[in-house]
Amino acid sequence: MADEKNIKEETGELGSTGNFIHSYIQADLGEKLCRLNTRFPPEPNGYLHIGHAKSICLNFGLAKMYGGKCNLRFDDTNPSKEDTEYVESIKEDVKWLGFDWEDRLYFASSYFDTYYDIAIKLIKEGKAFVCDLNAEEMREYRGTLSTPGKNSPYRDRTVDENLDLFQRMKAGEFADGSRTLRAKIDMTSPNINMRDPVIYRIAHAKHHTTGNKWCIYPMYDFAHPIEDAVEGITHSICTMEFEDHRPLYDWVVANSGLKAKPRQIEFARLGITNTVMSKRKLRALVEDNLVDGWDDPRMPTISGLRRRGVTPEAIRDFCERIGVSKANSKVDSSLLDYCIRDDLKEKTKVVMAVLNPLKVIIDNYPEGQIEFLTIENNPENENLGTREIPFGRELYIERDDFMEEPVKKFFRLAPDKEVRLKGAYFVKCVDFVKDENGNVTEVHCTYDPETKSGSGFEGRKVKGTLHWVNAETAVKAEARLYDSMMLDNPDDSSGDMIMNPNSLEICECFIEPSIKEAKKGERFQFMRNGYFCVDTKDSKDGAQVFNRIVALKSSFKPAK
Ligand code: ATP
Ligand code: MG
Repeated sequence: MADEKNIKEETGELGSTGNFIHSYIQADLGEKLCRLNTRFPPEPNGYLHIGHAKSICLNFGLAKMYGGKCNLRFDDTNPSKEDTEYVESIKEDVKWLGFDWEDRLYFASSYFDTYYDIAIKLIKEGKAFVCDLNAEEMREYRGTLSTPGKNSPYRDRTVDENLDLFQRMKAGEFADGSRTLRAKIDMTSPNINMRDPVIYRIAHAKHHTTGNKWCIYPMYDFAHPIEDAVEGITHSICTMEFEDHRPLYDWVVANSGLKAKPRQIEFARLGITNTVMSKRKLRALVEDNLVDGWDDPRMPTISGLRRRGVTPEAIRDFCERIGVSKANSKVDSSLLDYCIRDDLKEKTKVVMAVLNPLKVIIDNYPEGQIEFLTIENNPENENLGTREIPFGRELYIERDDFMEEPVKKFFRLAPDKEVRLKGAYFVKCVDFVKDENGNVTEVHCTYDPETKSGSGFEGRKVKGTLHWVNAETAVKAEARLYDSMMLDNPDDSSGDMIMNPNSLEICECFIEPSIKEAKKGERFQFMRNGYFCVDTKDSKDGAQVFNRIVALKSSFKPAK
């Protein structure tokens, strides 16, 4: 409902460091408030995704900034769908992102008695009634956006009758869906949420913490403001779809009899291009075995991003950069890639790995000889030191780095062309061998001993520098290259996406031997190929598996 105030809120948005939420809070702090408390309230019906990270960073971040506290509260009033596996994963993810709820871990289900007591209070004050309309009838009575609703024929039941029926609902006397408890507000309100909303429903279902104790459950719009007020939350930050529910939130707070008066503030959900951001849809991918679980490295879940090798610092930086506004929009996924690269570029060792190998033989290099060359671990961060890498007669380079008939501006290896091998020598291609299908199988070169890297050689220049590995000492590993798991589908007006058939490419690669010591979860830059992380779960016939976290910014690719 766009009213004047909301338009002001929208235009008052200040960007990431000073967004509109800060303006609200500062005004509140100026008026009467001496502290600020927030909460992150996930429903334990799936794993957290990067959209949740935005909410986590915002809630914990605001509390920290204003010297307040942020609670972790499981919104687990819904009996059927929830699971302790999800509770544990959510705790792990929030911690991993770098946030601490200290001793403030709460479960909405631990307030079941409180919701019930408040419902009784409302009935006694004539503000709630038991209604026997079924779902279909209730819809008819509710009216529409343009027509007012009609009072339920059960609206004028006496307090005693309501108390009796509600207690019998609790005692399990009635079937699911046969009765509800409704707040008595205003069936003619222009806001449909205020038209005597249901606040309790009957559900004979087992709950993951309270078992079969309850067969009536409070609705979200009734329970959430009570949870906030009970915990002394001052600012209840939620996503835009709750904007029209705010009057009901305020009504429940005002009529609950609780002292605290939390305030609801809405912000826009995070959406990212080519990314599914709904637990329900992510759960379907897991259940249909279309991905390797919730932590499949292609998933936008926190656990998927972690397994892929993304750092919590990169995710927090991303959440900071996207800012907070009231306008729903999609952030380009390349911004997340940028944040990931930016965080890793000075932290990781740069090693040489060849993903698509082509054998190179240095004809004039002594057979059986191996020499060790010193190479810096990260040209952008000399604190990471240097290491020794073996060079010998047989090497691997990337297949793409050789062209039999080079196109224009191809500065890599080609017949009679000279390139530098990173950290080693200039080599010149003198010959190549092809198989019966016309594929190049071997490239022959000569090297120039004068051109050893770091020797001060000031002679001729070469345009290309290639990465390489020594064939004899290289470590064989599996590399998993990821592309967007989903593709935006412009033909689908509902916004549904399609799975990208090329979202995973597996290749056998050769890596310099220093990688042998790498631990699970350790991150590297593979020179010219991107950032990689040792997979924490899988290995391939005893060999390491590397997930590509993110590619480097694309460089020149020759036309095929
Ligand atoms: P989903 O649609 O993915 O199931 P949800 O809102 O049902 O999300 P909850 O577990 O209820 O998931 O979310 C916990 C908190 O995270 C809520 O406060 C919600 O507003 C917030 N949140 C969920 N998705 C996003 C998102 N894409 N961007 C920002 N905040 C989000
Ligand atoms: Mg929800």
